[in-house]
Amino acid sequence: MDAQSLYKTYGEVRAVDGVDLRIAPGEVVALLGPNGAGKSTTVDMLVGLTKPDSGEVRVFGRRPYDAIQHGMIGAMLQEGALLDDATVEEMVGMVASLHSAPMKVSDALRRAGIEDLARRRSTKLSGGQQQRVRFAIAVVSNPDLLLLDEPTAGMDVATRRDFWASMKEFTSTGKTVMFATHYLEEAEEAADRVVFLRRGRVVADGSVEQIRSLAAGRTLTATIPGVDEESVRALPCVVDVDVRMAKATILSSDSDTTLRAMLPRFPQARDIEVVGVGLDEAFLVLTAQEGEES
Ligand code: ADP
Ligand code: MG
Repeated sequence: MDAQSLYKTYGEVRAVDGVDLRIAPGEVVALLGPNGAGKSTTVDMLVGLTKPDSGEVRVFGRRPYDAIQHGMIGAMLQEGALLDDATVEEMVGMVASLHSAPMKVSDALRRAGIEDLARRRSTKLSGGQQQRVRFAIAVVSNPDLLLLDEPTAGMDVATRRDFWASMKEFTSTGKTVMFATHYLEEAEEAADRVVFLRRGRVVADGSVEQIRSLAAGRTLTATIPGVDEESVRALPCVVDVDVRMAKATILSSDSDTTLRAMLPRFPQARDIEVVGVGLDEAFLVLTAQEGEES
């Protein structure tokens, strides 16, 4: 799959602001980013549902619409609706009948872990169950590329675990997968490669190990009487600082190094705490490191 210079603007909002993305066959890629980063807009353009303002998408050498018609892409979109009056089995069967070489409906239901829901109507499904039906719909064409937009939204922890297990079964056969998520843990658990999207741009793209070390930032807080922001900022590996009264909050890309330098410099420091950062802070660490390189 190859996307080049994708742009999409909604009024004043640059939803996708120059995305280049190439995915090799067999890769499992997480498209990671906070809400509003442009993940859904990107996925929608990759499946040909949203037309980019400029840029081009090719899937196995074809236009998205063409690739979908040939059953090469299976997609699970964030806004996708289910038919109210149909049973699970009927819906999945309907999609299967549109394709030339689908998998058996029962296989798709098994992969999604919903064999017991075959005769249930979609109005009687929980949010997590609906997601699994949509997964069955996405895989039943037996696609080579699976695109999933926040597939585990609404699932509880156990369902989530089952979902990723059946996903591993799918990818172990050499299929290509890209899924959007705003959970770093999901990206770490299920992907070989992570593409970080922020404000419509790719800000990092690497292996899970690389991204993990990039996102290994910590927030360090300490009470330091008489401290000034500038001298804290001068400590090694500091990405961001906030000083209020005597309390310093430091975002560090390597908290051990920052802490070792801080103690001799500020021997009066007390109440020191170090905690892992959330995704938003991880993005800050990431973009700060990018800035240092250039
Ligand atoms: P994500 O999936 O990462 O949460 P989206 O791709 O849904 O992000 O949205 C990216 C940005 O584009 C957001 O600011 C969102 O409000 C805006 N946006 C998305 N779709 C539309 C639309 N149909 N009309 C107007 N703005 C949109
Ligand atoms: Mg989205």
